[in-house]
Amino acid sequence: METKLVRIDENHIDAALIDAAGEVIRAGGLVAFPTETVYGLGGDALNAQSSEKIYRAKGRPSDNPLIVHIADMDALGTVAREVPESARKLAGRFWPGPLTMILPKADIVPRETTGGLDTVAVRMPVHPVARELIRAAGGYVAAPSANRSGRPSPTLAKYVIEDLDGRINMILDSGDVEIGLESTIVDLTTEPPAILRPGYITRRMLEEVLGEVAEDGTMMRDDSGQAPRAPGMKYRHYAPRGELTIVDGTGECVIEYINGRIERHRAEGRKTGVICTDASVGRYRADVCKSAGDRRSEETVARELYRILREFDDENVEVIYAEAFDTDGIGQAIMNRLLKAAGHRIVHVS
Ligand code: AMP
Ligand code: MG
Repeated sequence: METKLVRIDENHIDAALIDAAGEVIRAGGLVAFPTETVYGLGGDALNAQSSEKIYRAKGRPSDNPLIVHIADMDALGTVAREVPESARKLAGRFWPGPLTMILPKADIVPRETTGGLDTVAVRMPVHPVARELIRAAGGYVAAPSANRSGRPSPTLAKYVIEDLDGRINMILDSGDVEIGLESTIVDLTTEPPAILRPGYITRRMLEEVLGEVAEDGTMMRDDSGQAPRAPGMKYRHYAPRGELTIVDGTGECVIEYINGRIERHRAEGRKTGVICTDASVGRYRADVCKSAGDRRSEETVARELYRILREFDDENVEVIYAEAFDTDGIGQAIMNRLLKAAGHRIVHVS
């Protein structure tokens, strides 16, 4: 199939282009589009065949559920069997925005969309192109990240092209995304509610609205031995092709350890890389050294992380070391993605 690439200015949205993209989804096709978190791969969430197409295009296991994207509050009552007070409160505070809620699903949502579950994941994005597209597509767009399964989520349209060209109908390109990591997912079907995936909306922010919020035990640990709460949590994710190790410890020890390892890999003839920050970027002797930004503003690190992981692939880096990040605030989301990308390979040095 030929994939049509369409450029859309988010400040001056061309209504005719959005209508055409919405028509593709209504007709059962797939359109990749920008959101504030990462680029999504959209299909009609109420059409089982569209969801099957999404799984095929991504090469994603079909028991890994999709998030249903909506553009107004009425739509929530259509896809969820019940809308508890907690969901209304969270929506009032964080929607539209980077928060996904898990609720009991209504019959209208096919199991192909929910990966066979009785629950549905719902999000109302704030990105203007996403919102207009959802409306034009009929109001219910199932959209996982627009990457091939297992790869880092795309933060630019060129990465969507890299992964999905020829496999989907259309790509809407609006340039950079704002956040760079996928939405926070909170399960409202349990008491207390539980965070299944950390993101820009932190536990503290959720607790201000809901009171006690739990964290799923597999969020920051190796989940291989534990039954996952949701199918999506059991899969390896975000991984670069090179072998990634996270190094945690105080600044100088980390630098010394990584440089030592780099010498060894160089002797073996392997190409090395380091993911660090502005303060340490000049200190490493790796072949490829990339700063993810300023440690004091982890928002910048979140925005750069996936691009950096993909660039190591482009440069054929074989062994990669990453500095660790604080697990506070958005740092927790950064570490959650890094740990998954590293297959939980982490060393502590002091
Ligand atoms: P992505 O679409 O790539 O951002 O990933 C979506 C993720 O949302 C999946 O991997 C699941 O972990 C999660 N998810 C979607 N629906 C549900 C659900 N009903 N219950 C639990 N997790 C879900
Ligand atoms: Mg994904």
